[in-house]
Amino acid sequence: MTPDNRTQVLISVGTNLDRRKHLPEAIRLLRRNRFLDVNEVSRVFESPSVGGGASAPDFYNAAVHACTGLEPKELRDELRHIEAVLGRVRGEDPDAPRTIDLDIAYYDDLVDTDGLRIPDPDVLTAPHVAVPIADVAAEWVHPETSQTAYEIASALDTTRVRVVPDLHLMSRKRSSFDDNWDDDRLEVYAPRMEALVHQHLIEIGEDPEREGLLRTPLRVAKATDYITSGYATSLEDVVNNAIFDAEGADEIVLVKDIEFYSMCEHHMLPFFGKAAVAYLPDDKIIGLSKMARIVDLYARRLQVQERLTNQVARAVQDVLNPHGVAVVMDGRHLCMMMRGVQKQESSTVTSAMLGTFKSDARTRAELLDLL
Ligand code: ZN
Repeated sequence: MTPDNRTQVLISVGTNLDRRKHLPEAIRLLRRNRFLDVNEVSRVFESPSVGGGASAPDFYNAAVHACTGLEPKELRDELRHIEAVLGRVRGEDPDAPRTIDLDIAYYDDLVDTDGLRIPDPDVLTAPHVAVPIADVAAEWVHPETSQTAYEIASALDTTRVRVVPDLHLMSRKRSSFDDNWDDDRLEVYAPRMEALVHQHLIEIGEDPEREGLLRTPLRVAKATDYITSGYATSLEDVVNNAIFDAEGADEIVLVKDIEFYSMCEHHMLPFFGKAAVAYLPDDKIIGLSKMARIVDLYARRLQVQERLTNQVARAVQDVLNPHGVAVVMDGRHLCMMMRGVQKQESSTVTSAMLGTFKSDARTRAELLDLL
């Protein structure tokens, strides 16, 4: 994904209910949203509730710097959806405690003071909003006042906004999928999934508290997010700007030996192998490395090999509209090799043919020669 040709946004995040769960979950859902590309996340700040009265629980706040192809209204709907997933009910009382609050603080340099209130007026007046924003994007310039985020926060009374020292939210720059980025800090990544993995360990007769397993739920959550990152990626992101005009190109383009790793949806065990993707251009070609990324896009989900093969073919068809597409995948399935029939040497070959590869025997024969 390339941030440059998309809109940069700042999103403020707040919670005052079950904060150590809801804040990391919100960041994870933002990161896994296929329309958003999270670049950096602020530290976590704690501050008293502003409108909720003295008995209202204190808030945790953070800010997220991201890129998106969504329009402001679409982005707001997407944030509302994440709020709903995390149990937010928008009721009558605007100051009631909430599981999560996701607001568009800035949308590039857009000024929309009617419907969407962008920039969020709170960025100028509320320390609990301004401080996290200054933390994640100090140089961001307010489109109306021309002050930087740092200048805005510095001018406010921030004495009641404190850093939460032992809660660190993962950002892309901190290498989300790296197990060992910082062992001596308490890292919180995906509390709900980690709780499931913890329970899974108990169910199989293990002791999740023994030394070797202490960080296993965290590692499993991160590995799972990587292995299923296809859900968080769109075809447009993958293809982005890599289609070229090639008038007169009329020979088969074939990319062979593309390694793929996927997970069977029946047993959630890996299957893996090699893919070959071919197409017969109609004046448009695509960067060769993009073929592997298209395969990854669909492989990094729960799959059956037949559907995976078809989806890759369909994707190439959609982005290039060529005369024909052919995909052949050869995979070995751990659910067959490790269990059940234990046919350890068997492999499964699937193919999908579209256009001339399907309708024209000569084109198909030419492809088989190349393979
Ligand atoms: Zn299986």
